[in-house]
Amino acid sequence: MTDPPRTLRGLLVLPGGVTPGEVTFGRRIEGVTPDAAPSGEHLILPGFIDTHVHGGAGGDTMDGAGGVRTLARFHARHGTTTLLPTTITNRWENVLAALAGVREVMEAGGVGGGADVIGAHLEGPFISPGRLGAQPPNAVDPTPDLVAEVLETGVVRAVTLAPELSGATEAGMAFAQAGVRVGIGHTRADAETVTAFLNALSEMGAHTCATHLFNAMGGIEGRTPGPPGALLADPHAFIEVILDGIHVHRTGFLLARAAAPGRVLLITDAMRAAGLGDGESELGGQPVTVLDGKATLADGTIAGSLLTLATALRNAVRAGIPLPEVSAMLSETPARSLGLSDRGRLKPGLRADLTVLDADLNVIQVYVAGAPVLEDHP
Ligand SMILES: [Zn+2]
Repeated sequence: MTDPPRTLRGLLVLPGGVTPGEVTFGRRIEGVTPDAAPSGEHLILPGFIDTHVHGGAGGDTMDGAGGVRTLARFHARHGTTTLLPTTITNRWENVLAALAGVREVMEAGGVGGGADVIGAHLEGPFISPGRLGAQPPNAVDPTPDLVAEVLETGVVRAVTLAPELSGATEAGMAFAQAGVRVGIGHTRADAETVTAFLNALSEMGAHTCATHLFNAMGGIEGRTPGPPGALLADPHAFIEVILDGIHVHRTGFLLARAAAPGRVLLITDAMRAAGLGDGESELGGQPVTVLDGKATLADGTIAGSLLTLATALRNAVRAGIPLPEVSAMLSETPARSLGLSDRGRLKPGLRADLTVLDADLNVIQVYVAGAPVLEDHP
């Protein structure tokens, strides 16, 4: 038995602008009809896609299936309809156990009331021991055996690599061949090394990406443009940005947007502590203190974020970006970065992943494949 289709009226956030109209949907979007009738103030957007999220509401990808379910439900309540639970650099068996947890959730048919889990982002351990950021010191080189072992799990959809590591180019190619988005991050490479790495992957049609631009890769200087310069200058690389007001300066974000139109996607990089308020928490086995909305390790290093994508949306609008463009940074662009063609826009035939906001840009309802996540129906 299938439920009758639902119809939502509101302001449709489409690539060309915001217009009154309605969306009809079951599990898939059946109709998107702009019209001139009064629509109220609710904004209807394609659901958000987070390609880099470690945790939330006390759950973490490294906990296994239970942690993945907790974070998928938490972020769904904040507008995210698809996500990649993200691992952290750790002992190898812990990384494999986390990937097995993601697989367990996917094989069980997903997370009721949660975002769609379509695979994992493997962030580390194939990163530079000299650019760990907040990751524990378990970085290793991406040997063919290790790469084959994680690919065998069948769940890796995105990976972060430091291109200067021994074997990184071969590893990047093996991941790309398996349809995995190859991210560059946690790196000390110079711009030349990054550009050569990107060119080798582009030649084979790979999807490439900056892993949280500017974080754990240094900055841009005219004579030493570094990884951020090489990634922004590349015509194909997608660009992850943590827009929480802490990880990246607003001008850094505007620079990325100007240099890489249509390539910037917003991520949370959220950790277990997201949604829990100030207090003590944990990241990759290390103690974390959350104070005034900022998470740090004992030595003061900025840890993951406490962000949700709904907050990232409000921050981008506050930075002066038009809502349709912000919507693309949250949905269409991350979908393209992963090669997903079944979601990311308000378009008939695509999955009915929808996020409904009020006029103040607060989330009031979320639909994952047509199923409402929040109890209060708008
Ligand atoms: Zn991360």
